[in-house]
Amino acid sequence: MAGESSSTMHAAMAAGSAPRNAAARLSRCEKRLSVRAKMSKQTLLVILAHPDDESFPIGGTLAKYAAEGARVVLVSATRGEAGIRGLAPESAGEIRARELQQAAKTLGISDVHFLGYRDGELSLVDPAAIRSQVANLIREIQPQVVITFGPDGISGHPDHIAIHEIVTQAFDQVQPVACLYYIAPSEATLQGCGVVPSPQKTGGPVAAIDVGEHLLTKVRAMQCHASQRPPFSGSPEEEVARMACHEYFTLVRPHLKEVSCSDLFAPVPDVCVNK
Ligand SMILES: [Zn+2]
Repeated sequence: MAGESSSTMHAAMAAGSAPRNAAARLSRCEKRLSVRAKMSKQTLLVILAHPDDESFPIGGTLAKYAAEGARVVLVSATRGEAGIRGLAPESAGEIRARELQQAAKTLGISDVHFLGYRDGELSLVDPAAIRSQVANLIREIQPQVVITFGPDGISGHPDHIAIHEIVTQAFDQVQPVACLYYIAPSEATLQGCGVVPSPQKTGGPVAAIDVGEHLLTKVRAMQCHASQRPPFSGSPEEEVARMACHEYFTLVRPHLKEVSCSDLFAPVPDVCVNK
């Protein structure tokens, strides 16, 4: 308005916007508190083969749910004994188990269990013995969400494929009131922000988890696995820009067709959208 001083205008704008900003902040705060209250009763159990399997493909998702208050439990079938060239298995396993504990702490994972098998030998041992261990853990931990590799094992590593089969069988044996997800094929994570791969590509209904706010934590967790020469080895703040902001999962139990979801804990109605 002509003749009105800029300081008067700023004062009027401030007077008008302050309550709105305060209300918006309160609403965000209430939303976070309500998410924390809901998530504090939830448990996510992730069962994989080696140290670093948790951080590279799905570190953002684990960090997100831990930050929101869920209990996140990680089971690693081996200590990654075959993963450091030139080192004896015992020494390599010790180093990698330590790296995993640091990464888990970074991500907010509350418990880490090792099943005690040797890296590279999962497909050779008695599957009934591992299945029984995994089934007992599912009964004891009572998760609402279980995550493991899909049939492709992402990289095709025989240990990844073996743990995929073992976890799926153990889940079906226990039949917990929980959702079972497979980590979606690796090309899905390369599609960039906001692009959801089709169920045809991932082999089933897809959960696309927005991990944009947790990429810094993910990079830091990846860098805990120093013996594996993580590809994102620069300054974490800069590496974040190179990373996809969604991680993808295929829902396999319960069997739901044509459903797309943005929350692993809510594979039905209000959060998921029937296509
Ligand atoms: Zn692995």
